[in-house]
Amino acid sequence: MRSSVLRADTADLLTRIGYHRVAADGRGWTGWRTLRRGRELAHHSLAPGETVHLSQHRLLRGLRDAVSATPLVRLVHDSAVAEFEQDADGVSVRTGRTWWRGSHLVGCDGPKSGVRRQLKVRFPGHAAADHYAVATIRADLPFPGEARLHRDPPGSAGAREVTARPLPDGVWRMDWRLPVRQPQLTPDALIEHLRATLADWNGGAVPGYELIAAGDHVVQQRLATRFQVGRVFLAGDAAHLLGSLGMQNLDEGLRDADNLAWKLALVWHNCATERLLATYQQERRGSVIARLRSADQARPLLQPSTPLLEVRRSVLSGSLRRNAALLSDGSLGTGKLGSAPAYPPTGGPRSPRPSRRPAPACWCRTSRW
Ligand SMILES: Cc1cc2nc3c(=O)[nH]c(=O)nc-3n(C[C@H](O)[C@H](O)[C@H](O)COP(=O)(O)OP(=O)(O)OC[C@H]3O[C@@H](n4cnc5c(N)ncnc54)[C@H](O)[C@@H]3O)c2cc1C
Repeated sequence: MRSSVLRADTADLLTRIGYHRVAADGRGWTGWRTLRRGRELAHHSLAPGETVHLSQHRLLRGLRDAVSATPLVRLVHDSAVAEFEQDADGVSVRTGRTWWRGSHLVGCDGPKSGVRRQLKVRFPGHAAADHYAVATIRADLPFPGEARLHRDPPGSAGAREVTARPLPDGVWRMDWRLPVRQPQLTPDALIEHLRATLADWNGGAVPGYELIAAGDHVVQQRLATRFQVGRVFLAGDAAHLLGSLGMQNLDEGLRDADNLAWKLALVWHNCATERLLATYQQERRGSVIARLRSADQARPLLQPSTPLLEVRRSVLSGSLRRNAALLSDGSLGTGKLGSAPAYPPTGGPRSPRPSRRPAPACWCRTSRW
């Protein structure tokens, strides 16, 4: 079962577009604790609303309900995009035998994006940046409401860390970060990891638990070379893949949508020129590049090949406590791996293009535009 940690800005976006139950559907954490071999390295208390952790199927349902409730959007099911053509005035898209016409197209069709392929935009990166075994369980753990990361967990041979993050209804998502080259865990090995971790956190005895889902997940790290070609845009997994060190790719996809939607609206309503749209790629691609660069710098510090090397690297990099921040930033939405992006000011067109059709009422949000 996939889940995602939303930050205040993305949870706020979902509420704004009509998914009012987002906080109730998810679980806010009371705090985060980082441990190493039983010793506490860091503890953060979290205020309500700082994080919302929810399962992806609830998020999808909430989004679908919000979108269905607005007359601005028409959802068309079972209509895979087969091809598209763009010209100076718009984009034509074919699904089956139907051609659709619109002013712009946003390809948010996942990591294997056909839109990206048709645009001939490359998607370079690492095929295996990180490796996780993931289990979703229902259990009473002795730290209700608190997310916890345990570095070098005992009994979990090979695992760098294990993270337990609470979801609603007594459900926990557990992630074991494994060496990238380690072969996929067998189901039996994953259960062994799970039982060893639960026993460690429960005074040596494995508590009762229900296994809801389990799997092995190799994290890719990729970035499209462009997010815009003419009137066609890429967003979400079609534009970027990240996810190592607790980074939340779904959150980044929502930020793409938040960044692009109001710009498209302003351009459509003749309140800004097409040049405004170029800032989508500058801001969002730039932000993801910074995130990926930080992950590339952090990963070697957190993937020691020998204990001796780990000590040396810890000394060189400052301290184990500083590394502890690298381990939690992605999940907590802090630091370079997790905090909400701040876009640098850019110059650009400020006056609306002369209207060629009857101007609808312009709505403008507070922004530099
Ligand atoms: C095991 C696992 C664990 C993960 N854990 C996390 C996590 O903890 N936190 C996190 O933030 N992210 C996590 N992710 C990543 C997260 O799931 C993705 O970032 C997110 O789903 C991306 O959303 P998306 O809408 O961009 O793409 P997708 O979810 O891939 O959706 C793309 C959609 O486009 C549709 N589509 C494809 N082709 C076409 C076409 N030709 N025409 C029309 N529609 C099309 C597909 O059917 C699909 O519905 C995880 C992923 C995996 C695999």
